[in-house]
Amino acid sequence: MTDVLVSFDDALASFDPSFGLEVHVELNTATKMFCGCPASFGAEPNTQTCPTCLGLPGSMPAVNAKAVESAIRIGLALNCEIAEWCRFARKNYFYPDMPKNFQTSQYDEPIAYEGYLDVEIPSLNGVGTEVYRVAIERAHMEEDTGKSLHIGGATGRIHGADHSLVDYNRAGIPLIEIVTKPLTGAGKRAPEVARAYVSALRDLLRALGVSDVRMEQGSLRCDANVSLRPLATDEQSQDQVPLGTRTETKNVNSLRSVERAVRYEITRHAAVLDRGEKIVQETRHWHEDTGVTTSGREKSDAEDYRYFPEPDLVPVAPTRETIETLRRTLPEPPAQRRKRLQAEWGYSDLEMRDVVNAGVVEIIEETVGAGATPAAARKWWAGELARRANAEGKGVDEFGVTPAAVAELDGLVRAGRLNDSMARQVLEGVIEGEGSPTQVADARGLELVQDDGALEAAVDQVIAANPDVAQKVRDGKVQAAGALIGQVMKQMKGQADAGKAREIILSRLT
Ligand code: ZN
Ligand code: MN
Repeated sequence: MTDVLVSFDDALASFDPSFGLEVHVELNTATKMFCGCPASFGAEPNTQTCPTCLGLPGSMPAVNAKAVESAIRIGLALNCEIAEWCRFARKNYFYPDMPKNFQTSQYDEPIAYEGYLDVEIPSLNGVGTEVYRVAIERAHMEEDTGKSLHIGGATGRIHGADHSLVDYNRAGIPLIEIVTKPLTGAGKRAPEVARAYVSALRDLLRALGVSDVRMEQGSLRCDANVSLRPLATDEQSQDQVPLGTRTETKNVNSLRSVERAVRYEITRHAAVLDRGEKIVQETRHWHEDTGVTTSGREKSDAEDYRYFPEPDLVPVAPTRETIETLRRTLPEPPAQRRKRLQAEWGYSDLEMRDVVNAGVVEIIEETVGAGATPAAARKWWAGELARRANAEGKGVDEFGVTPAAVAELDGLVRAGRLNDSMARQVLEGVIEGEGSPTQVADARGLELVQDDGALEAAVDQVIAANPDVAQKVRDGKVQAAGALIGQVMKQMKGQADAGKAREIILSRLT
């Protein structure tokens, strides 16, 4: 069934949207949250399990200290209060991928609470950015579940499957769940703010070094909830209007999907409310391919998970000293770091935004450190390699091209050995595994002809062969020189410096 929607602008003409985000992030600790099993991704199914993470009788959990440290650092980076004393709790429910029949989580005593993250979105007037402060409700520790694989259906979903398999390698991997407060006041920019928040959070977690933050591999997973309330009348402020009923869209696992899913739900809610109907409080499934949500299960506020304090684990009680020691390990905040690097590299706002969106800030930093100019580093990583990565669904770092190789390539261009099209061919060779840029250039015989005599001779021949064009240039139509440059490059089999060819042509004709 397809939903009836109203346009986004029409929705905003009658309603004020609120949204909230729940992000689950898998920590990159060596071992699981409550046992010594490896926490690495991609092993053969059910090879990384033990009695504790399989929930076998008599097994005893113990808290992973490294995971607690990461949780505290995340809390501090999100400007949260850190609990001096908190416990784990059992969240009881049945699901085949959760062998204990409860998830060890935190309930009313989260390790971190009451924080915020400032996120930037481009200003509407196109100049600079605006800051939106996302209020953080809590960040708590818990464990991941296993993974069900549904076999035999067309979609990989349980409907239509012949049978299901369970892999418990993921069961017990440390998770931090980060929950925002209901976020209001973003108006029509709500979808963008939602995306910007997840993006900023991902940057922050990456800078902290606590997670791989790969949305496509599920190490960062996002649920987005949305509600609409009527616009305030003249007599009231918007804050006086109670929030509407919310829906929660599960597993929105790319930045683009976060924005699309929030936008979709705003338009769907508006249509339901316009018809005078009520929003059903429920979870929704996001469909990446069609860009719509469909109904999941109804979800009341007071779902009874029969939470109770975990009796097998001691409380977590970090001393103030420990917390302050961890605070000193926090990296420069990503937004501040981006500003500093943008100034150092001389990038425009737009260039910096492309670089950030392509996720290549760190790699550019390394490339510049290896001797490339910032402009060249940006051109290769945010241009050529990002384009390829996008087309092939890979990361830019998966082509076997290193920052050092890009710096070397840029060195060859600046030394006048390669022109742009040659440099592209050299990069191609590096990707093909033919060696370093210098080795590829040598092996493929790519080198600009440095002999000015040969270039001048070619120019003279081309001028003689194209008297009409040459006359145009003499008459002041300098653009016409382009055709001559093309001819010269052809004659030199592409191995000439086009800039130099242009200089010689103009010196001959003007
Ligand atoms: Zn285990
Ligand atoms: Mn959770």
